[in-house]
Amino acid sequence: MKTIGILGGMSWTSTAEYYKQINQGVQKKLGGVHSAKIVLHSVDFEEIKETQAAGRWAEAAAILGAAGKGLKNAGADFLVLATNTMHKVADEIEAASGLPLLHLADASGEAIRSQGWRTVGLLGTRFTMSEDFYRGRLLQKFGIKVVVPEKDEQQVVNSIIYDELCRDCFQDASAWACQLIIEKLIAQGAEAVLLACTELPLLIKQSEIKVPLLDTVKLHAEEAVRRALQE
Ligand code: GLU
Repeated sequence: MKTIGILGGMSWTSTAEYYKQINQGVQKKLGGVHSAKIVLHSVDFEEIKETQAAGRWAEAAAILGAAGKGLKNAGADFLVLATNTMHKVADEIEAASGLPLLHLADASGEAIRSQGWRTVGLLGTRFTMSEDFYRGRLLQKFGIKVVVPEKDEQQVVNSIIYDELCRDCFQDASAWACQLIIEKLIAQGAEAVLLACTELPLLIKQSEIKVPLLDTVKLHAEEAVRRALQE
């Protein structure tokens, strides 16, 4: 079994899910008391959040690249960057770490393509919703059209993520707000909705939504398990 290097803590609430779901996946495949071989570097998210807000992406990439290199030295065979947003600097992190990185947009794109969906809604941080690094990869590599909320709605989702979910705060009112925003994406033709922020699956539940929801933690964890158990 290969050793998985998790770059996490962005935020810790969702990294805990990665840890749990990867271990559950390995145990399901191998049985007994098998568990995943994992080395985890969990950052102080406040430091990363400051670099994001100030647009100092090269600095964020350097911090995470050095952490990735540490994971390599600790025995990791490949990297799982446990956040959609920081995939903005995935190439830089991969190069600095010297390890292959399991790109989250690819895990998402494969899952969407396998279902035959051509248009999906996407919720995430303002960076993931408004910029091209994630949506562009889905379009160029997988031919998937992405619809995102209006600008003011993006602000609502972004605030829920940083001010609540990343602080381990989950409120019904915020779930309802996201549900209303998702309804509008469905009206615009979304056949499924990608929760492209690793905290959102902890808030938004499938039972409340008319189209399939795609959980990026689940997709990424499943891909990590597949890769770890590949001969
Ligand atoms: N975990 C979130 C994501 O998947 C947001 C936190 C971050 O900015 O990294 O995008």
